Amino acid sequence: MTVKELADELGIGSGEIIRELIKNGVMASINQQIDYDTAEIVAGEMGFETTLVQPTKNEEDVIRVPTREEIAADPEAVIRPPVVTIMGHVDHGKTKLLDAIRSTNVVAGEAGGITQKIGAYQVEIEGKKITFVDTPGHEAFTQMRARGAQVTDIVILVVAADDGVMPQTLEALSHAKAANVPIIVAVNKIDREGANPERVKTQLSEAGLMPEEWGGDTPFVQVSAKERIGIDELLEMILLVAEIQELKANPDKLAIGTVVEAELDKNRGPVATVLVQNGTLSERDYVVVGNIYGRVRALMDDKGRKTRKAGPSSPVVIVGLDDVPSNGDILQVVEDEKTAKAIVETRIRAKSAESQQDSKAITMEDLFSQIQAGKVKELRLIIKGDNVGSIEAIRGSLDKLSNEQVSVKIIQGMTGAVSESDVLLATASGAIVIGFNVRPDAAARRAADANKVDIRFYNIIYNLIDEVKAAMSGLLDPTFKDVTDGYAEVRQVFKVGKTEQFAGLFVTDGKIARSHKVRVLRSGTVVYDGEVDSLKRFKDNVTEVAAGYECGIGLSNFNDCEVGDNLEFYHKEQVKAV
Ligand code: GDP
Repeated sequence: MTVKELADELGIGSGEIIRELIKNGVMASINQQIDYDTAEIVAGEMGFETTLVQPTKNEEDVIRVPTREEIAADPEAVIRPPVVTIMGHVDHGKTKLLDAIRSTNVVAGEAGGITQKIGAYQVEIEGKKITFVDTPGHEAFTQMRARGAQVTDIVILVVAADDGVMPQTLEALSHAKAANVPIIVAVNKIDREGANPERVKTQLSEAGLMPEEWGGDTPFVQVSAKERIGIDELLEMILLVAEIQELKANPDKLAIGTVVEAELDKNRGPVATVLVQNGTLSERDYVVVGNIYGRVRALMDDKGRKTRKAGPSSPVVIVGLDDVPSNGDILQVVEDEKTAKAIVETRIRAKSAESQQDSKAITMEDLFSQIQAGKVKELRLIIKGDNVGSIEAIRGSLDKLSNEQVSVKIIQGMTGAVSESDVLLATASGAIVIGFNVRPDAAARRAADANKVDIRFYNIIYNLIDEVKAAMSGLLDPTFKDVTDGYAEVRQVFKVGKTEQFAGLFVTDGKIARSHKVRVLRSGTVVYDGEVDSLKRFKDNVTEVAAGYECGIGLSNFNDCEVGDNLEFYHKEQVKAV
């Protein structure tokens, strides 16, 4: 609780509490959280007895948002429209397809209302509605999932028929699979010369997505977003898949929804586009969104028209929040302002308790204890490697490690540097990321730090398998962890003598030192891992160079740096196995 809450509870001034805290060596301001032990000591010294009260069942209920399955299990739930997200490789036509669907379905006379684009819209065919969430890109999708929001019922995977399956197609596929969402493949650009829909089928079936017509369970629909071919077939397919899923919600409940877009509007204040998932959201409802509360002042539908109510699967724009929420925040309607306030306070408390307990992310070190505690039954791994052959070899060996207690599941195995999107997928799925001869980029490292995702690096398959095996059986030795100190970019290269090379660097991040170990990264792939031979500024040997400075470097036994390579400087630190 905060100092103020403790003071209110004890019926004394906050100043007295602060003085007592200072006596005990704790410097705290009035709104600062203190833990139970501290509160107990301070209260005790002031003659109060304390007991630790865990959040009541009721409070837990308001913190926890029901899952889609729980919502659908309500006996009063009725069929609701499906919510669809479009994903795929860049330039394969996601935006064009969303636009084609949106305009195919304009009811006569409504066209004028479509000028304003919001983050989600609804179309109607054969009297049935479909909601599209307009957040192309699997990062946005997984970011929401990482925040606990399950928005999407069906994923449309767009693949351009002339280009075929590309890296982001596979990435989107693993994100959709990890979310356990049915996929419909839209083979786009069939109007193009060189369109080869059969090749898309072959490529995707190799990636584990078998077309229905080949005996699998994934529908493939051929479309041209540009020529508006196949759009109706695609919409009908969505309805068919939705029907099988029996998506349900109860419109007679207080609403629950997810923020899909939010911004601060100059005139209207915080404005959020919310997808209602259960219940009905109405004007003047009291709402809690993440750690913000407010009262719905106005509601607008996806066509920008004022509306009073929004039922399950409807996108609506709401005005009236105190602050701008984040994408993926859950919105809940509550009875009154007092409840809204209490929930926000409970949430803030729960959040600070959670951050004190550290994250729920799985690490290799705590894997065994988590398995023992029954908290982990499936070890999920994301593997990024420098080539397909090594990834397949790793996959083959890891598959064999599954045992009765825990099964090993590779939720993504792809070539390329470890990216921010991999880290998000790991966060959303409770996975460990493994880089084989590849390194993370700066954004991935920041995301991993923020979400406490464990990223492991190996350059020998045997070591990788051995460590995973050891971690699963609690026999992980204290290992050495690489700690990155700085990054530099190669700006120039010079020949020295016959074969040796000197590289001109610009230090982009952190600091670099002669004593550090160094990796040369080319497009995220490790091309050299070794020692610094010499480090110079102008003509002088130096021991360190900080970010923002230039310097020259010679590497031991490596003379193949290229302009544009990145150098990662690091040292090893021992970590204890738990
Ligand atoms: P996104 O990056 O996946 O959102 O792709 P866009 O929707 O921006 O489309 C990329 C490019 O492909 C644009 O120039 C579109 O006009 C074009 N395009 C999209 N769909 C089709 C199609 O069905 N046929 C043809 N010929 N071009 C298309």
